[in-house]
Amino acid sequence: MNGNFVPRSDAVVSVEDRGFVFGDGVYEVVRVIRGRLFATRFHNERLERSLEGIRITLQGEDSPARFVDIGRQLLRENNLLEGEATLYIQVTRGATTRAHYFPPANTPPTVYISVARFAPNTELAERGASAITHPDLRWGRCDLKTLNLLPNVLASQTAKEQGAFEAMLIRDGVVTEGAKTNFFGVVDGTLRTHPCDTHILPGITRSVLRDLAAEINIDVDESPITVDEIPGLSELFLTGTTTDVMPIVQLDGRFVGDGKPGELTRKLQRVLAESLASGGD
Ligand code: PLP
Repeated sequence: MNGNFVPRSDAVVSVEDRGFVFGDGVYEVVRVIRGRLFATRFHNERLERSLEGIRITLQGEDSPARFVDIGRQLLRENNLLEGEATLYIQVTRGATTRAHYFPPANTPPTVYISVARFAPNTELAERGASAITHPDLRWGRCDLKTLNLLPNVLASQTAKEQGAFEAMLIRDGVVTEGAKTNFFGVVDGTLRTHPCDTHILPGITRSVLRDLAAEINIDVDESPITVDEIPGLSELFLTGTTTDVMPIVQLDGRFVGDGKPGELTRKLQRVLAESLASGGD
């Protein structure tokens, strides 16, 4: 917490912290397998971009790479070098008297870094999960990983109340992404996903998976899937740092394809699992 190593319960922020008052900050979640951090370069680049996007300047020696190094130390000191874990990094615009415009330039950002034990939901990934569609009520810069997650929170809660794993967000007649995941679907034999623009978060898993797919000659067409195309989907899956490749076998109560995880989905689940098991640094 701001450079001090403290028990999680002792990590406190000011009630005037901009993250607390306005959700004025950004974050990252990194996957850790047996002490190896997965795709840190991509996470560092995205954090850099998110910080720039909301105009937070880090102070002194601070940088995303330094935060990851602190994360490595936390993993060591918390005996998390075996099994799986997640690293969480959050930066807010700091604590100051409440005003919407930025605080004085010398206000230090609040930096919180933590690690936690993690267990992937392998049983659901085997069976396949269900999802619902939900209006995408988010702002115009969904490409930045900000703390402002209220539309995602509300959509996730609606999904949970309906017994679904995820809410697929719909904006202007197309599926953008999930409330906490990216989204791939197979239409007429072609694997498609929403292009990286300001309407989706450029997911690290999405990007890693697209490269892995190319290596085994599976093309990904980055064009949005429209609501009208949903009934014709033969496969559907979600991707995310803590979701891996999650098959969706039921959408809004209707089976996707034959109601079982599809062949392409299975193949991509395998290549991502292999990459996770062998990759990272
Ligand atoms: N889309 C949204 C809205 C997310 O919140 C997340 C992850 O938190 C993702 C996509 C998946 O991104 P990543 O693969 O980097 O975890």
